[in-house]
This record gives sequence, C-alpha cells and structure tokens, in this order.
Amino acid sequence: MKKVLVSIFILALCLSAQAQVRNEVHIPDLKGYQTLKCDFHIHTVFSDGTVWPTVRIDEAYREGLDAISLTEHIEYRPHKKDIKASHNRSFEIAESAAKSKNILLIKGSEITRSMPPGHSNAIFLKDADALEQEDYRDAFKAAKNQGAFIFWNHPGWDAQQPDTTLWWKEHTELLEDGCLKGIEVVNGKYFPEAHQWCLDKKMTMLGNSDVHQPIQVNVDFGKGEHRTMTLVFAKERSVEGIREALENRRTAVYFKENLIGEPVYLKELFENSIRIENVKKTDKEVHITLFNDSDLKFVLKKTEQNPNLQYFRDYTIQPHCKHTIVVKLLNGTTRGSLNFEVTNLWVQPGKGLAYSFAI
Ligand SMILES: [Zn+2]
Ligand SMILES: [Zn+2]
Repeated sequence: MKKVLVSIFILALCLSAQAQVRNEVHIPDLKGYQTLKCDFHIHTVFSDGTVWPTVRIDEAYREGLDAISLTEHIEYRPHKKDIKASHNRSFEIAESAAKSKNILLIKGSEITRSMPPGHSNAIFLKDADALEQEDYRDAFKAAKNQGAFIFWNHPGWDAQQPDTTLWWKEHTELLEDGCLKGIEVVNGKYFPEAHQWCLDKKMTMLGNSDVHQPIQVNVDFGKGEHRTMTLVFAKERSVEGIREALENRRTAVYFKENLIGEPVYLKELFENSIRIENVKKTDKEVHITLFNDSDLKFVLKKTEQNPNLQYFRDYTIQPHCKHTIVVKLLNGTTRGSLNFEVTNLWVQPGKGLAYSFAI
C-alpha cells in the first residue's frame, strides 16, 4: 500500500512539473474591443519548419497568445520525401491541442512566389489544397473564393527586393481585386515602406514571427523578449471576431519595445496603460505620479514647450512601474500642457505619437 502511495505521489509530482505556465501579455483592451495577441505567420515540418504542429500550440499558450495560424508554404515543402500530406494537415493535427488550450487556430497557407508578387499569407481558409495552382493569380482567386484575408509577407525581404522595397503593378491589381488587404510591416525587421503603404492605401498592418525553428531559438525569453505579434482589437475573442477586426484595419504591431499602428489606437493603448495616481499642486510646482499597469515601456521626449512650464526633456516609463513628472510653474503660471512625443509608438515612419498632459 505504502509503495502504491509513493508511486502516486511521484506521478503527481511529475505531472505538476509538466504543467505548462501561461505568461499573459499585459496590454490593455480598448473601448468596445478586446486586445488579442496574434501571430499569423508560422511554419512547421509540414513545410520548411522544424517542429510538429502541436508544439506551436504549446508555444502560443506559454507566451500568452490568443490566436495563431500555421501558414505552411504551398510551393515549398523540403520535407516532402518524409511527409506526404494535404496542405490542410498541420491545421488538422493542431486543432484539438488548440481547443484544449483555448488558442484560436486559424487555417492559413503561404502562397510562395517569386517577386512580383512575392510571398503572401491567406488566412481563414476552408481548403488549403485549392491554392495549389500554376498561376499565382489563380491561387489568390482560390483563396479569395473561400473568403480568405490575404496579406503580403515581408515585402522588404532582401532575397527578393535586395536594393529597394518596391510596390509593383501586380500588387495594385491584387489590391483592386480584393485579393490583398494587409501587409507585414514587421517580419524579422521593420519595413518603413510597408508602414507608409498601409497608411496611404488603407491596408491592415501586421507583424508576425515567421518562425521556422522552435521559438526559443529566435526569442530570448530569459531577457524578457517576446515574439513579434499582431495586436487585434476585436469585438469578441473568436475567429470571426479576428476576421472582422482585420477587415476593418483594427490592429497594431508589437515589435521589440515598439508599437506600430494608427494614432487613434496607439493613443488609447497609451492612455489605458497609464493610470494617473496622484497630482500634487502648489504655487510653484506640480508633481504628477503615473503608474504603468502594462508590459509596455513608453519613451517620452519633450516637444514644443510653454516657457513658463519647466520639465525634463525625456522620461522613460518602465512596465509595471511608478513614475513622477515634476513641473516647475514660472511667472505665476497655473495651467498649461506638457507636450511629448512618445517615440516608441510609431504612427508614421520616423514619427512617434504626439501626446499632451494637461495641468
Ligand atoms: Zn519558410
Ligand atoms: Zn515567406
């Protein structure tokens, strides 16, 4: 009996040691929308990745993601001698693991062509096999016929656009046909041209990992790093909710310590992250104590200044930290605004979000 109890105890220990920990990403919701953390560009052994599909679900769970898409290359399958399967297979294998860990799994594929039009991901597919076509136009059409959302991957990839990141006439055709609605503004690195195109052409901004190896090969979690992800501002946490948000351009890209997106969303994310805890005002000074409840860091740089309000030129508000801004009031001034650029919230290439605190 004693022996049985001991083995049960050891078994229980092993099971608890194996239990996965989910590390939530603390980025606030917006009014009426949930902020979902998503990665829409991932590979497994079913194309040129090195891991089994269920491993991607474990990784997503550990990193606090809400949704992922396994986007195997349609036209590039270096393991095909060993793995002969439908293009839908990696999704099918991961599906039950995704359900059990409450990760939303979106069926996708990478249409992998030379430039133009380069590589594109089609997500919300029903049948990925239908994308196996001679002409790339037919592959895009097959995806569109299934109601897919299609975006251009890594437009500035040096293997395809070594000198300049160009927009081709083929992309205009795809855009006009409703076959291209978004662009990866970040994939490995930031593509400023893609950022500007999204603003000018009203396309959706995405940032994804494009991970091929186990994620820890690319991301050093010990140093507090995170994978590049797309923040989706969705009415509900569901696959349909994500699709609706992508169609309506409600996204931002979380890349290293930066957020990239439309100013309206970045401003609300900033305001919902920062809680003003205390304002102490005397005739000569104002002390504003802020608390940053989020995982985001904010780098503030002073812009045009009212000469009667004296405050320091820059402030870095660290995640989950308190921070006090001290303002000297000169010449009997009692009110005004403190003007900053939040330099790590990118609203345009080379331009941070303008933000003012009223005092
Ligand atoms: Zn690949
Ligand atoms: Zn690619």
